[in-house]
Amino acid sequence: MKQLEDAVFHRDLTKNYPIITHGKGIYLYDECGKEYIDASSGAVAANLGHSNKKIAQAMFDQASKVGFVHTMRFETEVLHQLATKIVQLAPSTLNKVYFTSGGSEANESAIKLARQYHRDKGNKDKQIVIGRWQSYHGNTLGSLSVGGDVKRRKPYTANLIKTEHIYSPYCHQCPYEYEEEACIRQNNLACANDLARKITELGAENVSAVIMEPIVGSQQGAVVPPKGYFKRVREICDQNDIVLIIDEVMTGFGRTGTNFAIEQFGIEPDIMTFGKGISAGYAPLAGMIVNDKIVDGIIKNSAGQFVHGFTYSGHPVLAATGLAALEVYEEESVLENCQHVSKYVFECLEQLKEASKIISDVRGRGLLIGIELVKDKEKNILFDPKEQVANRVNTSAMDLGAVFYPGSGGIDGLYGEHLIVSPPLNITKKEIDKMVSILTEAIHLVEEELF
Ligand code: PLP
Repeated sequence: MKQLEDAVFHRDLTKNYPIITHGKGIYLYDECGKEYIDASSGAVAANLGHSNKKIAQAMFDQASKVGFVHTMRFETEVLHQLATKIVQLAPSTLNKVYFTSGGSEANESAIKLARQYHRDKGNKDKQIVIGRWQSYHGNTLGSLSVGGDVKRRKPYTANLIKTEHIYSPYCHQCPYEYEEEACIRQNNLACANDLARKITELGAENVSAVIMEPIVGSQQGAVVPPKGYFKRVREICDQNDIVLIIDEVMTGFGRTGTNFAIEQFGIEPDIMTFGKGISAGYAPLAGMIVNDKIVDGIIKNSAGQFVHGFTYSGHPVLAATGLAALEVYEEESVLENCQHVSKYVFECLEQLKEASKIISDVRGRGLLIGIELVKDKEKNILFDPKEQVANRVNTSAMDLGAVFYPGSGGIDGLYGEHLIVSPPLNITKKEIDKMVSILTEAIHLVEEELF
């Protein structure tokens, strides 16, 4: 028998993490009985909190009936029910759902579908995908390529697929050095128009798709684009016959106060990917919702064959999990709760910002909220990334009993550190008070260390 202390290949092999034995609502408990508020919903996935009995029962019931069928040979009723429900929630032109087991796979699928759509239509050179710096679309090679996480891309540069990047909008520290109000007033959105410039540079005949998060999550800390941004992006994609993929893996299913964040910007994408919130983190379920134009193109030009597929696409237990989660969202009016308490969390965090030396910005929508941490608020001087300030705040918060989602400062030292506050969407006001009080103390402790 091999004698091993720990056989798990952790992402960080130098660390030991608390062993979680159970969870309840917004709380997680470790083997020593210590309680943590899950103020990040894991990786912004556990939108309904922990140990939901209805979801657990649905998983058990489906596995007891049939645990797996291969969707190249069979279908299940539960999958149809789930797809129908998702389409009912989605923007009006998105009517077919393709399932995967993770957000990275969903984005890989979207990139491939856009490519196949163009190729089979006769546009054989339309291959390049344009993504954005300061964005994240997953960790598989294709999704990593279109994303802008410089640190994660670096070791694999030679393996990445052909992509191009523009900057994400970030009015708080505009990479194009514009002033927000004037920029919007003059309707001169440099960040959106840069897409047109990039397409001209590459030749529209070579560009297959554009992929964007509606509100940038892990790489920027819940940054909302300026007014008019997505309308201009949609217009540019239409003018150039480019597929617009909107990545709602983090933002979908109520996280930002609407079913999908893109609804707030008045456009409909061609493909919308989702993950995380669909199963509220209870199972690895994700996918893409596709509009009629692309589906019709595949039917007409590809004899209905999408040349793609995963063993676990359409897995019945995952589908039952998603269906049960969507029912819980509805039955417990979770979206309404998110809208209601969001205002309160913003008020609390704005107060914290005023009292703090290092919080320079509070932004986001719904319960996807970012707080930016800088060394000098007046002069907007950033921390040296080596100081790991966001991580230190989170470590301090974990000691005090709450876990947040820290993020680092992005490319070229352009941006500050941030922390995402994204508790389960059914959090109560009383629980929010406890979460904010722990965060306040954690910030205070780190400030004392720093100044
Ligand atoms: N897209 C976005 C916007 C994400 O936030 C993530 C994960 O954090 C992904 C894609 C990748 O999803 P997964 O980790 O399920 O592969």
